[in-house]
Amino acid sequence: MFDTGSRLLQQKIIDLINNSETVVFYCEYAPKWPVRYLTDNFAAFGYDPEALYRQELCYQDLIHPKDLAPLEQEVAAKARDGDSHLAKTIRLRKPDGDYAWVDIRLTFERNAAGDVTHLLGKIVDVTDKVQAEERLKIFAKVIEQTADFVKITDRDGRLVFVNQALLDKTGYTEDELLGKTPGMLKSEMQDQTKAKALWDKILSGQVYQNRIMNRCKDGSTYHEDTTISPIFNADGDIEYFVSTGKDVSEQVKMQQALNEMAMKDVLTGLCNRRHLTGVIETEMRQRMQNGQTFSLILFDVDHFKQINDDYGHDVGDEILIEIARLAKRLSPDIDHVGRWGGEEFLLLGLDLELPSALGLAEVLRDEVACFDFPTVGRVTVSVGVTLCREEDTEADLFKRADQALYQAKHNGRNRVEVF
Ligand code: GH3
Ligand code: MG
Ligand code: MG
Repeated sequence: MFDTGSRLLQQKIIDLINNSETVVFYCEYAPKWPVRYLTDNFAAFGYDPEALYRQELCYQDLIHPKDLAPLEQEVAAKARDGDSHLAKTIRLRKPDGDYAWVDIRLTFERNAAGDVTHLLGKIVDVTDKVQAEERLKIFAKVIEQTADFVKITDRDGRLVFVNQALLDKTGYTEDELLGKTPGMLKSEMQDQTKAKALWDKILSGQVYQNRIMNRCKDGSTYHEDTTISPIFNADGDIEYFVSTGKDVSEQVKMQQALNEMAMKDVLTGLCNRRHLTGVIETEMRQRMQNGQTFSLILFDVDHFKQINDDYGHDVGDEILIEIARLAKRLSPDIDHVGRWGGEEFLLLGLDLELPSALGLAEVLRDEVACFDFPTVGRVTVSVGVTLCREEDTEADLFKRADQALYQAKHNGRNRVEVF
């Protein structure tokens, strides 16, 4: 087949092919395509090339039954139509029954009349490539149908891929998002400290995880647990960022409801003692740091036991609810209004000086005393007021508030006393 004067050069070319992954063959275009030449590297598929020369094997034994007829039809059609070559990817059966994917390229050799007489062929094993493509197809399918949100941005932070779940959630179309930054979803990622944390983490090769709030096209928001990791190129530079996210809005809502419940008094809706205690602890610590101070107003319903005894517990409850409402309404600027226990309430006014605290306490006492409670009519409260001092411990503070309240009771109730 080589019409060259140099046998040496011919041998060199054959050696080169045999050391490559490309198998070359030359056969007659006659039934069973009798093989006239085949490079030795065909042995890589597990066959003895001699078996083909001896026609113990022919191409029909080697090609996957599903690929055989289409290949034969195409070869016949191209041979007839005067085409010069054909390229296809087909499956080649191996002796162990497995199949290898191969790219096959046939060149038609024609006689003077234009009829095909021989086929010069080239076969390359592309099994790894085909399998990788298959895997990619599977991954693409997984990404498309997962309920999680998947975003891919390039190194400039522009979206290059968004999956269906994200489009469904946000109400955007692919065209509206691609090429934009994820900031378009108004993610908190625009927050500078968070952005820095993200970059520090990612650039050190780590995965960044965070809970962020995103905005849909219609303005509604959702909470997302997001994980972002970088994809590096062969040079070790960041090429893409892959972000996957889960919609955790329900979880967040439930958590918020639980937190709310944990800090609220069930009967009055004011914050409860546990929450107030936490607030006071925090405020006392803050006060040490920045000298900020606060007033405590502690008030207690007078003769409440008697009210319960006379009118019943339910009426007592109604009074507590009404008093809570009054306290809340009369102190809109007060930071914390809570139920301290039973029929005792507490107001904590940050930066509220004693005169203002006393004024508020007096208004509160007066409003309760003048309020026309259903069923019971008049109800009064006694109020103790104190200012948190620099050297106070929590115990000191409450001792003084209690003493002021005790004083108010002792001095006849329906009074405000300060200690
Ligand atoms: P004082 O003027 O000295 O404060 O007298 P008082 O009767 O208000 O005080 P005392 O501590 O003797 O009684 C408080 C009563 O409050 C006793 C308790 O049954 C009642 N109480 C505590 N919590 C609730 C509640 O949630 N609902 C009702 N209805 N009563 C409650
Ligand atoms: Mg009482
Ligand atoms: Mg009491």
